[in-house]
Amino acid sequence: MTETRSTCPYCGVGCGVIIESEGARITGVRGDPEHPANLGRLCSKGSTLHLTATPMVLQTRRLLQPAWRPARGAAPEALGWGEANERIAARLAAIRAEHGPDAIGFYISGQLLTEDYHAFNKLARAVVGTNNIDSNSRLCMSSAVVGYKQALGADAPPACYEDLELADCLFIAGANPAWAHPILFRRIEAARQQRPGMKIIVVDPRRTESAEFADLHLQILPGTDVALFHGMLHACIWEGWIDQAFIAAHTEGFEALKALVRAMTPAAAARVCGIAEADLLQAAAWFARSPASLSLYCMGLNQSSSGTAKNTALINLHLATGQIGRAGAGPFSLTGQPNAMGGRETGGMATLLPGHRDPANAEHRAEIARLWRVEALPEKPGKTAVELFEAAARGEIKALWIACTNPAQSLPEQALVRRALERCELVILQEAFADTATSAYADVLLPAASWGEKEGTVTNSERRISRVRAAVPPPGQARADWQIASDIAAALEKRLGLPRRFGYERPEQLWLEHREATRGRDLDISGLSYALLDRAGPQQWPFPEGALQGRARLYEDGRFATANGRARFVSQPFALPLAPANAQYPLALSTGRLRDQWHGMSRSGVVARLFGHEGAPALSLHPQELPRRGLAEGDLVRLRSAQGELTLPLRADAGVAPAQAYVPMHWGSEFVAGLGVNVLTQPGFCPDSKQPELKYAAISLQRLELP
Ligand code: SF4
Repeated sequence: MTETRSTCPYCGVGCGVIIESEGARITGVRGDPEHPANLGRLCSKGSTLHLTATPMVLQTRRLLQPAWRPARGAAPEALGWGEANERIAARLAAIRAEHGPDAIGFYISGQLLTEDYHAFNKLARAVVGTNNIDSNSRLCMSSAVVGYKQALGADAPPACYEDLELADCLFIAGANPAWAHPILFRRIEAARQQRPGMKIIVVDPRRTESAEFADLHLQILPGTDVALFHGMLHACIWEGWIDQAFIAAHTEGFEALKALVRAMTPAAAARVCGIAEADLLQAAAWFARSPASLSLYCMGLNQSSSGTAKNTALINLHLATGQIGRAGAGPFSLTGQPNAMGGRETGGMATLLPGHRDPANAEHRAEIARLWRVEALPEKPGKTAVELFEAAARGEIKALWIACTNPAQSLPEQALVRRALERCELVILQEAFADTATSAYADVLLPAASWGEKEGTVTNSERRISRVRAAVPPPGQARADWQIASDIAAALEKRLGLPRRFGYERPEQLWLEHREATRGRDLDISGLSYALLDRAGPQQWPFPEGALQGRARLYEDGRFATANGRARFVSQPFALPLAPANAQYPLALSTGRLRDQWHGMSRSGVVARLFGHEGAPALSLHPQELPRRGLAEGDLVRLRSAQGELTLPLRADAGVAPAQAYVPMHWGSEFVAGLGVNVLTQPGFCPDSKQPELKYAAISLQRLELP
């Protein structure tokens, strides 16, 4: 048996794993006791990873060779990599010549490694010449990115996992770490045992397992987070719990914010949020007066039409009370995907450039053009996730290259997404699995290597870079994602008569280029190397040349990443969701994650034991809603929103508040009548972060009569 150290490919906790293999077969997995994120522990998903790579899965689920459909709806025909690369390059060159570079779009994934991201980003911007590259991290983290940049000057989570053990007050908002980040939650449970005085507050419209564990659950109405945070800040100002010295020395914009929250008294905020005023005041007191307060937040804040405002309103609370830049204190966004952070670092999104640069900044574009040895980078703003598919549905995007993600299940307003895919002249799908919902729309299928089969790096939620290592070769003709992108980029360069910049042979070559893009920036990793990561284990950034170790916490000196070093209070008013519940659609539907499933289940859905927790999707309603509507548990109900309809069995769940509804987001068309819950969600997004409002849809219900 061979043992290989690598990283779990599921969530942003980024646990270290030891893969056990025999020959070309993965036989087991266990937690890496030396990885600082998990210290040997694994959750239900991580500990069953080897079951996603059984011979049966490899033979029946994996894409094993490149294939091209002769016509839409026809069976794909196998072809070799050489021919596939040349044909793709020829089609992309022809589309580019006829319609321009912006007729081509790339939709990639937070599942990709940093090296893969770098290859795609350089291909899109330096070879095709478009900023139309976005990632499914848009659905996950973009509100956190913009929130950090607006308030603190850089997209850099200032805290670390150790702070979970050092916080006196843990404020968990819009996150259910007990299910979505289980290993972090184990650390929280252990911390509370060690420190019985630690206070835990959970803000969530549902009574989740995390909420059950909390000292105080603020069960707010969906979408009212900004009102809550403003009301808490009002209370802190009124009670004298703010840190005047910190505000004066390290921030700007407080007077404008103070004026904004003046009308949001605790009583007014409690009314908007549907909670008791006393609970709001208790939360404000614990948050402001604890020696160290740490907030953890995730999709509940991010996936919203006011996602950025929710992030900045929470950061405002930290700044006003001086709860930042100290052990156990600070705003700490959790990443959903294993390498959402790496994607942000490499700038693999329409609104970013490598090294936390900005594509709208001419100097930043020129810096990257110099590093990549190209004349210039494209200036025209790129389209973000929803915009890419809207443009494709209008016929403006002619070719879409989708890598390692399943937009025909995961994007909002599925009817539009599927129209977009049908209308594209060329859909390239680079995937490990043969049977995702998107594969039916692909003209070209490119087999990608999966977890345990590829080399590179990922960055977890606490800015820690870990190595990902191959334990076995990829099955069939599957290749690493960076290699697929690099080879096609080389073929395209040749056709376009461009100097050769692609043709990488090892992922480390890509990583070294990425490293150069960070030099002198807030995320500087010029002091890191693969060799150091191999020798010393995972490291946090920044880690500049000459440093002996990375930095666990940021802003400890009170100097922020803004031009003048002061953090900014961001004054954004509370706003309702884009399409709130109304007489026609009276229920507020929220979507969310289950403990034992991951995303669209393309990986976790092959592990039988992961269905022991929840075996099938259902619509959950508060028990008192059932008799009122003439419904009973187990009834089949039709859910309707302005976007579409879906049929699901009904379940009573006291954790869901009255007049609300809940559906897990994992299942797609293969399990339920319809296209999965995103047939109901709407494409509206936060104007700053462009992150769609996946957590809120107004719906109606109708019982389906049994025949
Ligand atoms: Fe994997 Fe996340 Fe579970 Fe850790 S917590 S084992 S990274 S799924």
